[in-house]
Amino acid sequence: MHTPLCRQAVGEPVDYARRAVEIGLTEIGFSDHSPMRRDDFDNWRMRNDQLDEYVEKVRRAQKEFPQLAIRLALEVDYLPGHEDWIRELAARHPWDYLIGSVHYVSETWDIDNPAKLSQWKNRDPFEVWTAYFERLTLAAESGLFEIVGHADLPKKFGHRPTQSCTPLYEKFLAAAKRNNCALDINTAGLRKDCREIYPSREILQLAFAKGVPVTFGSDAHAPGEVGMNFAEAVELARSVGYGECCRFSCRQRRLVSF
Ligand code: FE
Repeated sequence: MHTPLCRQAVGEPVDYARRAVEIGLTEIGFSDHSPMRRDDFDNWRMRNDQLDEYVEKVRRAQKEFPQLAIRLALEVDYLPGHEDWIRELAARHPWDYLIGSVHYVSETWDIDNPAKLSQWKNRDPFEVWTAYFERLTLAAESGLFEIVGHADLPKKFGHRPTQSCTPLYEKFLAAAKRNNCALDINTAGLRKDCREIYPSREILQLAFAKGVPVTFGSDAHAPGEVGMNFAEAVELARSVGYGECCRFSCRQRRLVSF
């Protein structure tokens, strides 16, 4: 879940926590977009000097809602060459988990950014999906993350290759398995043009076959989105064979049945 520090979410962590209690969740996690070394990198993340404020906001929610487990995490952008920066971020606070996400397929194109939608027009979807999954594989391979976020993000606006992407998925999932990375079952896709949970049933089937575990996330950018469509997410996971999901504390994973 996000916070207003990323400049595209509304509601404070206490508001998300209140909503979680209302709908009967027992555990939630905040994973707002991590800062970059350069604050002018883009306009949808907290600044470096706001990281402590972010942690404070989450701590406040933990204090106000002691009956709810509230995990402190980050959604970290993986770009090749940024590994040292990610290690610095990891050392700054006692995170419960880090989600590694790929949004950028180059230094300047974040493929899910609606302001850059026109860039898709000049590109072959398969070429973009290939570049994306190559980076996602590197993210999993880096060993920096407990979870890989929204694994098939390039489908967001509906740009889908006609070619099979199965070999790309297989390579990524093998890296995830080797590096103990879980897969984020993320319901935000249902609220986008693709109208589909991230990742697809095909990816989840391959992940289950390889023994890659999963987490459930709403990617909430507003309190009303907390836990949104979780029943569908659970049904999808069950239908491919999953009966357990991961929880994290101090970057340690444990499996719980659902
Ligand atoms: Fe993301």
